[in-house]
Formats: sequence, C-alpha cells, structure tokens
Amino acid sequence: MKYCIAVRSLCELTAKAGDLDLRFTPAPSAREGIEGHAALARRRGSGYETEIALESEYRELRVRGRADGYCAAANRLEEFKTHRGDPGRVPESHRAMHWAQLRIYGALLCRVRGLKELELALVYFDIASEAETVCAEQQTAQQLEEHFAAHCEKFLRWARPELDRRAARDASLCTLSFPFNGLRPRQRELAEAVYRATRRGRALLTQAPTGIGKTLATLFPTLKAMPAAALDKVFFLVAKTSGRRVAMEALARLHTGAAAPVRVLELVAREKACEHPDAECHGESCPLARGFYDRLPAARSEAAAMAMQDHATVRAVARKHHVCPYYLSQELARWADVVVADYNYYFDQSALLHGLTVANQWKVAVLVDEAHNLVERARAMFSVQLDRNTVLAAQRHAPAPVRDKVTRVLRHWDDLIGAQQEPYRVFEEVPLPLLRSLEGAIASIADHLAQSPLGAADELLDFYFRALQLCRLGAQLDRSTLCDSEREAQALCLRNAIPAGFLAPRWAAAHCCVLFSATLTPFDFYRDILGLPRDCACTEVGSPFAPEQLTVRIVSSISTRFRHRPRSVEPLAQLIAGQYRSQPGNYLAFLSSFEYLEAVATALAQHATEIPIWRQSPGMSETQREGFLARFAEHSCGIGFAVLGGAFAEGIDLPVRRLIGAFVATLGLPQLNPVNGEILGRLHERFGAGYEYTYLYPGLRKVVQAAGRVIRGSDDQGVIYLIDDRFARRQVRALLPRWWRVC
Ligand code: SF4
Repeated sequence: MKYCIAVRSLCELTAKAGDLDLRFTPAPSAREGIEGHAALARRRGSGYETEIALESEYRELRVRGRADGYCAAANRLEEFKTHRGDPGRVPESHRAMHWAQLRIYGALLCRVRGLKELELALVYFDIASEAETVCAEQQTAQQLEEHFAAHCEKFLRWARPELDRRAARDASLCTLSFPFNGLRPRQRELAEAVYRATRRGRALLTQAPTGIGKTLATLFPTLKAMPAAALDKVFFLVAKTSGRRVAMEALARLHTGAAAPVRVLELVAREKACEHPDAECHGESCPLARGFYDRLPAARSEAAAMAMQDHATVRAVARKHHVCPYYLSQELARWADVVVADYNYYFDQSALLHGLTVANQWKVAVLVDEAHNLVERARAMFSVQLDRNTVLAAQRHAPAPVRDKVTRVLRHWDDLIGAQQEPYRVFEEVPLPLLRSLEGAIASIADHLAQSPLGAADELLDFYFRALQLCRLGAQLDRSTLCDSEREAQALCLRNAIPAGFLAPRWAAAHCCVLFSATLTPFDFYRDILGLPRDCACTEVGSPFAPEQLTVRIVSSISTRFRHRPRSVEPLAQLIAGQYRSQPGNYLAFLSSFEYLEAVATALAQHATEIPIWRQSPGMSETQREGFLARFAEHSCGIGFAVLGGAFAEGIDLPVRRLIGAFVATLGLPQLNPVNGEILGRLHERFGAGYEYTYLYPGLRKVVQAAGRVIRGSDDQGVIYLIDDRFARRQVRALLPRWWRVC
C-alpha cells in the first residue's frame, strides 16, 4: 500500500523547526495571492510554464504537488510566496519550509524531465509594492535527489508505523462489535442506512427520534465500513459542547475490547485550550510557542500512542513537553482516525479539517450531529455586520496614514447610510464607493501591520476583520445573501440566507456525509438550504416509543399571535394550573419571548399560589442554567418557564418523573420584520416556498424539539399541550412527528 502525501504536508512534518510564529502579519487574501501569482507569471513572458503538476514515488510514499513556475530557457524552477511588507520579517522557520518545498519540487522535476541540474528561485512578491525579492541557488539533480530522499526517509520513520497501525486498525474494525447487548431495532434501521451511505459514498439525511442512541448508531456503522470504504478519517461534527462529550463517551465504549482501537481526537476552541490567554502566538510572547516545532515530534509521538486523545489528555501531553496544547491538537488532527469537533472545523471559511482534507486528498466520512442546527450556524459563518461605531472606533485608534483611509470610509458611510431616509434598505450589491473605500482602508491597515511588530489596537483590528469579511463576501454576493442597511442601527450587513453555495464544495470534498437529527423534515428544506447533492438519500427512522406514552392536546381556543397575546395570558395561566392540579409534577412551559413568559408566569403565580414556579432569564450563566434544571428533580413539582428556541428547548434530558409534560404556547415562527420579509422573497424566488422555508418549517422545528423533552425513554409517560388555533391546521399537523397521537 502506498502512502500518498502532498509536498507541503511532507515538509510540514520534516522541515519545520524552531518557534511557532503566528504573529499577526496580514497574509494576502486568497484573491490577492492568485492575482500575485498571475502578475508574476505575466512578467515571465511566453514559454513560461505555470502550475506544473508533479508526482513521483519513494519507497512506500507517493509524493505529489504543483510547482509554481518553470522557465525552460533559463532552466529555472520558481516558487512564489506573496506577502506584505519587509520580506526580512518572514520567520526563519517559514523560510526553511519554503526552501524544503522548492527543493522537493526540483527533485520531482528533474526525475520527470530527466534534468541534470536546475536553478531554484524562491520569489517573495510584495503585493502592495509589487516588488520581487529573489533568493536563488544552483542544485544538481543528484543533490536534489539526496534532499528528497532525506525528507522521505525522515517522514517514513514516522509514517511506516502509521501504515502498520492503519492495517491493524482496519483488521480490528472488521471484527468490531456493538457494545451493550447489540443494536435495538430502531438503532439497527439507522445503522444500516449509515452503513450503506458510507459504502456507496453518498450523502444521507436521516431523521431519527431522540432516545434511540443516534451517536452510537452512526459512529458504529461508519467505523465498520471504514476498511471496505478505504476511509482515511471520520469527522464527527457537533453544534454544542454536550454533543462532543456524548460522542467521546460513545467512542470510548466502542474502544472497549477492540484489538487495535481507532485513534480519536477531540478538538476544542482556542479560548478553551490556550494556556496563556494574555500572550500572543509567537516565541517572543508565549513560552509554549518558543521552540514549539523542536519539541513537537516527542509530544506527537507520545500523544499518538494514546487511543483517546481528549482535551485533558492532549493538555497533559502538551504540558509535559512544554508545547501549546491548542496547536498540538491541530497537528494531531493529521494523524487521528476520528476527529470530534465543532461544525466550524469543517464548514467555516478557513476550516482546518476541510483544508487538510483537500490538501491531502483524504477520503473522509463527515457525520453531522443535530444537523438541524447547521442551517443557522452556516448562515452565520457566511454573514457579517459592520456598524458606524466600529468604523468610528477604528478611526480613533488608527495611526496617521491609516486614519485618512478610515475617514474616507466614514465619509462614504455618512453619504450612504447616514443620509438614508428609509428605516431599512436592500442593495443589489455592496455600494461601490463604500466598497472601494473599505478596500483602501484594508490595504492601508495591512501595510501598517506588516511594518509594525507591535501590532495594532483591538478596535482597529476589529474593523479590519469585519471590513475584510465584508469585501470577501461582497465579491461573491448573489441572491443567496442579502446586502442591507438599517438606519437606526447604522449597520451594513451581508446576511446569508441560503448557505448552499458555500457548503456544496464541503460535501463534495467528503467521500460520504451523514446528517442526522430528531428534526430534519421536510427533507427538501434541509437539502435545499444546505446545498446537499440531488442524489442525497433521505430516511426517517420510526419512533421506539409507543403512542400511549404521550398525550398530545391541541388547544385551538387560544391564539398566541402577537396582537392577541394580552388576552391569551389569563386562559394560558388557567390551562397550566388546571393540568398541574389534575396531575402534579414537573412541567416546562415554552413561550415565544421573555416578556410573554413573564406575563404568563406572573398570572399563574397570582392564581395558583401553591404551584412552585421557576423562570428562565436572559443571558443565564452555565451555573444558573444548571440550577434551573436541578429544580426538575425526581420528587419535585412545579412549572419551569422557558423561551422556545432557548437553552432549555433542546439538548436537555429530564427522564421519567423529572418532566411529565410541556406547554408550547407559540408556533415558534420567526418575527415578522423587513429582514425576514426580504429573506422570504429570496427563498420563494429560489425554491417556491418562501413562507414555509422562512417561517413555518423553522418554527415547527423548534416546537417539536421543545416538546421532544417530554419522552426520553421507554419508561416515560407525559402530556404535551400545543396552544394556538393554528396547530389545528392540516399543514401544521403534518409537520408533527408521526407517532404522536393528537387529541
Ligand atoms: S498557549 Fe495560547 S498564546 Fe501560547 S501559542 Fe498556544 S494559543 Fe497561542
């Protein structure tokens, strides 16, 4: 079996030495990089070859990559590196990497074309001044071959045991057995669908009810299919920390008894992993960045011997070897079999796992836990907001040459948004004068940062990143994203409504992907918004619960519409009190807003002084949230008031007597406002279902999630009240789970 590796990845393991240096030097954007390469190629004239695909083998390795440019007349191979500012500031460790890469490209070119010698040139191209700084050397084919062999041998010392380990892993996975006493019927249904999708390399959307053990039922078949599908990695992506914890526990169970367990890595956010939050990520500031690459091999070897690399384990290894735990975990991602991480790590604009997958041409399975969350999370990843206060703050903190540029932005801002008559305005594209002034300010700040080792004020950087994001997203603006401004907030926004176009390449990069949740219907909605392939399979796993376990009552005599709310308060309080008195126990009551919640809770407190009441409040801390949930004890009684779509409306488990019923006094529809009106128009234009895609489906999804808190296991019994006349409509009832028997 050959081990395929990109030249860059090979050098990252063999040529990096010294400090970790992520000092903030504004790297050219992808567009600037491409333009820089194109400008250099133009200068080189005709007969100059660019983007030369190279591939060759060394023992068990197949090494491939693309060299930037070759001039046959001068017999000169060039590697382009775009940058800003003084090339002398390129860290030594980066420079060593660049040379190692170039020499390997040189060796591959000599092999492929039978060259005896070659001139190698490392060309640093300043995108601001368009100046070239060239470092060149002459090498014979023999010297380059020795260089190539040295790097390959160094890599193989690490990769050979990895190849053996992978073979043992695959053999062990073939005999992997399901923990507990085997799969339950519904779990089996889900597991079989996942197995088929993995073997066939397909996308799968699957709705499976809470309580059947979805995490194990998706991980187990994926791992079982791993050897036959020749998978390199499995990414288990979660929306919340709790999902990460559950996945790590499930994987630990699967490990038990395995002869050669898979290597599992947990990735956490930088804020959580960083040991020196006040430092910057370079050797002069952070002791864990100093000499990072010198100590990395030992840390990596020690961590690699551990099958479960959870946050605590990686941290302990990092401490022992005095390296940064966050960047150690990023290195370990290259060698893990299963990575458990937040959605960001695969879907974000510069996502680590997606970048590594593409660069290394890994064959990966992507499992998306609680996938209904991906709609809002993906929209946020491809949206940005800039307001006048941010521009003003940047102007105050900008050094002299930059200040003029930011002032120009402010001038265009005031002409456009300051002078805006209407409260809300939609633009077809980012207004050109403002866009140009933002680009000017970005370039000026980037030049300033490139010359200033001490960096810049946070206010200036905040503006810089927002402006950068605005220009980048603005360049790709189409009807899936709204460009709008709000007079009162003095804000310009790019709001993504349909992330399909951004996500489609992510699905395409994966061998297979499985999106699962208890609320993923109608499937078309998720398939359309998330840009899943047309041949994506959709399955719905039946509920393991008996309809007798749950009584669902629709109360159509009450309207919870905004205009009817004042007169709904009393009937709601009476309804809740009546149910509680007939069957005391713990209930959750979901309302659409804190204001509404307060009104109903107060009315209930006045009418039924004997009923204990506890309320969710805005911005509760983790401790406060735990305190709220602790009130739902096995032998307690009371009503917990919460907002629909909030912290207590999904992802919480209150089994058996801890929760015996829920009141949902809202359809969960998003607010009627100009932004949602505009989104409705765009969704209608694209999918012909504006109201359903903007309001109805997202609203009902929240209702079903919240109501799903009541029945969590086969011993649970409960009641759900759906309160609003619209719940009686056929279109709405069709969106409720099929196993519910509605009274
Ligand atoms: S410990 Fe923190 S500051 Fe230091 S390198 Fe790691 S992330 Fe950066």
